[in-house]
Amino acid sequence: MGIDLELADCAAAGYRLAVCRQAGPVCAHDPDCGQEYARLVDAAGEQREFRYRRFADINETMRLHGMAVFTLDSNDRRLITTRQIDEVLAAYALVPSATRAALESDPKWAAWLDWLALSRRHGGFEAE
Ligand SMILES: [Zn+2]
Repeated sequence: MGIDLELADCAAAGYRLAVCRQAGPVCAHDPDCGQEYARLVDAAGEQREFRYRRFADINETMRLHGMAVFTLDSNDRRLITTRQIDEVLAAYALVPSATRAALESDPKWAAWLDWLALSRRHGGFEAE
């Protein structure tokens, strides 16, 4: 089972656009739903989605180091909030620096930390 992660602001704009288009051919919102979605997606670029889809190792590392604020074990759609991300990062800050350095030698873990920091600035992320 793979889980897709997408920045929360991009995902939310995509839902708003879909609802708007269902309602009729002309958007009456400000900003325009289509333009806003395109703006967010362009700004995020390839960082809009996390490049890995399997999370057993990340879940286990978070569990082992007191960071299991959430686990990614289901592809039911849900939002991981900035508050949850803050809690994970705060727990990670308590992990001894030598342990953090060892963990961060794994490119996937390093990408995960980058993703958390990035998604913190985009309203969190959606898992699906
Ligand atoms: Zn609209």
